[in-house]
Amino acid sequence: MKALSQAQFLASSADPAGLPPPGPPELAFAGRSNVGKSSAINALTGRKRLAFTSKTPGRTQTINFFALGGGARLVDLPGYGYAKVPRALREQWRTLVGSYVRARSTLVGVVLVMDARHPLTPLDVQLIEFLGGVRLLALLSKADKLTRAQQAKTLAEVNASLQAEVRLFSSLTRQGVDECRDLLERWLVSPHPGRSLE
Ligand code: GDP
Repeated sequence: MKALSQAQFLASSADPAGLPPPGPPELAFAGRSNVGKSSAINALTGRKRLAFTSKTPGRTQTINFFALGGGARLVDLPGYGYAKVPRALREQWRTLVGSYVRARSTLVGVVLVMDARHPLTPLDVQLIEFLGGVRLLALLSKADKLTRAQQAKTLAEVNASLQAEVRLFSSLTRQGVDECRDLLERWLVSPHPGRSLE
């Protein structure tokens, strides 16, 4: 059995001090709100409602942990980029997500979900800067909304600007789902390339 197909909810925390202690390798998912991150997690784990989004901006943000098969974990980071979010909540996101991605020694890779129509927004770039060399999969979501030609252009542009794996993805048509799942399964079993944490 593959690790991702055995996902089960483990824990949720709104506070960097309350995260489960690091243990098994973790694969984290990040992205702007409404970009299709929950749909991508559900498609990749083969579950209908494992991850779900709060449609209410301003609600408490949490990091959600799921146990995968083989002792790994999937980590769903809170979405960012709601236009009307108050400054205090943006600061809370920076503290929570920043402290997780910068300091988590067991993080083996990050899946950054970006809308294929608007990749690499300033907040996506900020997140990538937090990562400091962690393996990255840029998942270009909602690819079904682009023509073949637009898909090829976006793929080439994002590939040229990032040191990352880049894949077109659609939860709707399932484009890229099997390929991304295989890639992530490989990350979970391959030795961690190592990152320098202060
Ligand atoms: P999240 O806020 O990033 O977790 O986003 P959701 O997964 O909740 O998706 C936000 C909206 O985008 C929902 O209305 C989804 O139905 C839609 N959506 C998600 N994935 C896709 C996709 O691959 N194609 C299309 N066309 N819509 C999608």
